[in-house]
Amino acid sequence: MLKLRCNSGTRIRTLQDPWIPGKGNYLLSARGNVTADEIPQLVCDLMNEDTCKWNSALVSRLFDEEDYAAILNIPIPYSHVADRLVWDFTKDGQYTVKSGYYKELLIKDAGVDSHSYFPSLRKSEWKVLWQLKIPSKIRIFIWKLLHKGIPIAEGLNFRIKSNLNCPHCHEKEDIHHMLFNCDFARRTWFLSDLHLISGQIPNQTFDVIWSNFLSNLHSAAEREWFLSVFAFNAWSIWKARNSAVFKDSSWTIEDTTSYARQSKKDYDEANAAQLSKVTATEKKFRKCKTRHLSRSPLLSDAITIQYDGGISKETQSGSVAGIAFNNSGQSLGSFARSFRGMWDPGIVEFLALREASSWAKFNGWNNVIFEGDAIQVSKSVNSGACQITDAWGLCQDIWLLSNSFNHTEFRWIKRGLNKEAHKLVQLEKAQFRRYSSINGVS
Ligand SMILES: [Zn+2]
Repeated sequence: MLKLRCNSGTRIRTLQDPWIPGKGNYLLSARGNVTADEIPQLVCDLMNEDTCKWNSALVSRLFDEEDYAAILNIPIPYSHVADRLVWDFTKDGQYTVKSGYYKELLIKDAGVDSHSYFPSLRKSEWKVLWQLKIPSKIRIFIWKLLHKGIPIAEGLNFRIKSNLNCPHCHEKEDIHHMLFNCDFARRTWFLSDLHLISGQIPNQTFDVIWSNFLSNLHSAAEREWFLSVFAFNAWSIWKARNSAVFKDSSWTIEDTTSYARQSKKDYDEANAAQLSKVTATEKKFRKCKTRHLSRSPLLSDAITIQYDGGISKETQSGSVAGIAFNNSGQSLGSFARSFRGMWDPGIVEFLALREASSWAKFNGWNNVIFEGDAIQVSKSVNSGACQITDAWGLCQDIWLLSNSFNHTEFRWIKRGLNKEAHKLVQLEKAQFRRYSSINGVS
C-alpha cells in the first residue's frame, strides 16, 4: 500500500488519508473526547505555515501521544512543491481568469486536428524548454507532446495499426492516459522524485499542463529541477509503454522510475565532467595570467561549512549546528537551532544540512562546501535520490537551495574531523534543555 507523503499537507485529508509514518494503516484517529468538527479537514491546518512547524498544542490536544510524536517527527520542508500541483480550476468548479482562458482555448482547439496543432505557449515558455538540461531526444519528445505529435493510438493511429488500447490496463489510450492517468503512470509519478499525484492533473492538452507547471514554478532553479526530473520520468513512462507494445517485455514501476533517475544522473554527470573540463582550462588560464598575484581569486571565496545534528531524548528534540570557515581556515561564524518533537536521528542529520544550506544562502555565500559526518546524507544529496523516505522533503529543500548557489559540494568527513560542529550541537542541546526546564514545556 502506498502512503501519502506529507509535504505541505494541502492535499492530505487529516483523518481519511494514510499519512502517519510507522503506523500499520498510516491512519490517524482522534482522541475520544474530540468532536469531528474540531479536527481540521486538511493536514496543512495542523501546521504553522510561516514557521514551517507543527502546531504542537493543537496536535497534542486532538491526538494521542503516539500519534503526536509521529506527527511532530515529520519534517516540514520550506519548498512547497506539492502545493504546485493544485490546479485552480479543479477546486469546487471555481474558475480563475486564467483557467477561463484555458477553457476557451480548449474549445477553440476541439476542431483542430493533430497534425496542425499549435501549442498555446508564449515565447518565454518555449525558451524554458530549450534551456532545460536534458538530452535532445527527450527535448524533442516533450516538443512532440506539446504538438500532440506522439504517435499513440489517439493522435496518429495510422502509425500503429493494431493496438488501440493501453498496453498496461487495456483501457482506451490517449496521451493523457498514457502519461498521467493510467494506474501505471500514476504509481510511477508517485514513486518518482517529484512524488507527483498525477491523477489530480486535469485532462487538458499537454501544452496547457506544461504552462501550468511553468506558472507555478517561480525561480529558475525550481524550474530546472522540476521540469528536468519531469522530462526524464515522462520519457521513461513512454519507454515503458513502447517496450510493452513492441517488445512484449514489461517494465515494472520500479524499473521505470529507476531508469529515469539513472538516465538523469548519467546525463548530469556527463554534463558536469564537460563543465569541469572547461573550468579546469579556465583555471589554468587564469593562473598564467595572475601568477604575479599572491592568491587566486577563484579559490579564495570558497567557504566550508561543517554541520552536525544530534537528538535529545530528554527534551524529545533535535538540535543542529554549523560553523563556517574561509579558505585560510578562519571561522566566519556559526549557527545553532533546536526543533521540538523532531528527534529521529536519521532525519535530524538531513535537517542539519538543510539549515546549513539556508544559513549559507542567508549570508549570501555562493561558493560553499558542506561537510558532514552522516554518510546517508551526503549519499542522498549527491545521488539525487533520497535514501530515507521521510526526509525527501528536506532533500528537496537542499537541492533547490543548492541550485541557487554558484557552486556547492556535499562532502562526507569522518566524525573526528567534525569536532567543531559536534561541540556546537552539544552546547545547543544543553541550552535547549535549560530553556525547556525554565519554561516548563513538555
Ligand atoms: Zn492504462
